[in-house]
Amino acid sequence: MSEFQTSSTRKAQKQHKCQCCYKPIEPGTQYVRHAGCNDGDFYWFVFHENCGALVQKVADYIGEAIDPGEAIYLAEEYGVEL
Ligand SMILES: [Zn+2]
Repeated sequence: MSEFQTSSTRKAQKQHKCQCCYKPIEPGTQYVRHAGCNDGDFYWFVFHENCGALVQKVADYIGEAIDPGEAIYLAEEYGVEL
């Protein structure tokens, strides 16, 4: 079993789509790129800085990895706020 995770903050060169709130990340703005490998499956996500922080906070609160697209819903359900 191999597992790693890395996140970095970058400046968008082109438009990306946030995988938490599904709104565009405009070129020239800071965004978070979160990449990892889980049992040989490579994955990566891009988020607005706030959305990335929210996903992290909800995952920490629940204690396991979450689907980033559900972070906003889960944050409401569990009463997690940034
Ligand atoms: Zn977002």
